[in-house]
Amino acid sequence: MTELLIHYIQNYHFTRFDLKAVLFDMDGVLYDSMSAHDESWQQTMDELNLRHLPNEFYLQEGRIGKSTIDTIFQRNLNRNATDEEIEKIYARKTELFQQYNSGDILPGAAEILEYVQANGLKPVLVTGSGQPSLLDRLDTHFPGVFTPKTMVTAFDVEHGKPDPEPYLMGLQKGGNLKPNQAIVIENAPLGIESAVGAGIFTIAVNTGPLPDSVLTNAGASAVFGSMEALLETMPEILQLSQTIRI
Ligand code: MG
Repeated sequence: MTELLIHYIQNYHFTRFDLKAVLFDMDGVLYDSMSAHDESWQQTMDELNLRHLPNEFYLQEGRIGKSTIDTIFQRNLNRNATDEEIEKIYARKTELFQQYNSGDILPGAAEILEYVQANGLKPVLVTGSGQPSLLDRLDTHFPGVFTPKTMVTAFDVEHGKPDPEPYLMGLQKGGNLKPNQAIVIENAPLGIESAVGAGIFTIAVNTGPLPDSVLTNAGASAVFGSMEALLETMPEILQLSQTIRI
């Protein structure tokens, strides 16, 4: 971990970390929701006879709905979807997701949030999700952790992941932070691209079916197999981030 952190500081021309916040993706990081997303996207597209590719919805994870729909429309119909089509398709996908989603949180997620807060760091949520009542759900599972002021959702950004905009806004919401004042926890290649594009040290947690190499190729500095495994390493990461100087 030491080398990874030093490598980041050198690469981005900082002299040290000055950690103030941890930016969390939501699906596949806090919630065990990715298989339900995958299943509901697949069924929605199957119902419309629109061809999709193996693991496509894991590879596209993090994009806002419109962007995922347009990618599939372009492949199948050589055009983008109309606003009306997007609304209908996203509504169907959301309906199915609500049916399939267990609502389970990933083991270790609540403990990592607690650990982050107990160490005086601000947790910030950065998600491409535009689900209704997102904050209510978060507040039920992680009481008092996130507020609208510390959340970036699909409603806040013009360009979703993999554009850096969501994570740049996450830095702002963290308290107008510089990239070396935060770290990102992500599970998806496009989310990692977005975070790395914003210049932030990015840790991947591989909770899905993609090989680790997809996450490292996207720019993740480290890959953990679960939130529980990351939880065990959090003390080391925080300690190093406070002591490393170059
Ligand atoms: Mg995710």
